[in-house]
Amino acid sequence: MTRRPDATARSHREPSLQLIPPDPSARLVVDIGHLEPEDHARVTFLVPFVGGFRRMFAVHWPARGVAPHLGRRPFPECWPLHPALVAELAMVERWAAAVEANVVEGTGGPDRGYDAWSRHVMFVTVPMVQEVARGVARSRCLHRLSPGPCPSA
Ligand SMILES: [Zn+2]
Repeated sequence: MTRRPDATARSHREPSLQLIPPDPSARLVVDIGHLEPEDHARVTFLVPFVGGFRRMFAVHWPARGVAPHLGRRPFPECWPLHPALVAELAMVERWAAAVEANVVEGTGGPDRGYDAWSRHVMFVTVPMVQEVARGVARSRCLHRLSPGPCPSA
C-alpha cells in the first residue's frame, strides 16, 4: 500500500499562516504624538509586526547588557522615528502578507516569493535595523525614549 500524496494538505493549511507571527504584546516606548496622522497610523499598525520581527530575529540584536559581538547592539526602540526604517518595515510587512496570500491560495506554492522575501529581510532589513541600532549605541541618535516629544522632530 503506497502512501497517498498529501494533496489536501495545502488547501487545509492554516489560513492564518504568518511568516512573522505578530507580537500583540509589543508596545512603543517612544512618543509618536508629533508624527503626521498618516505616519502615526502606519507606525501604530506596524507595532505588532515589528514586535514579531524583533523576536524572530532576536539573535541580531542582543539584549541590553549582553556582551556585544560583531558590532551587534540592542534593538533600536526609536525605530518609529526613523522614516526610512519605517518605510522598509512597512514594505516587508506588505510583502510578507502577499507571500502568505500566495501560499494560502495555493496559486504559486509555498516557495513562490518566499525566498526573495527571506533574502531581502536577511540582507537588507536586518542590516538596516542594525545600522540604526549602532547609531543609537554611539549616541548619534538623539531620539528621547519617553516621556516627551522627540527633540529632533
Ligand atoms: Zn533614533
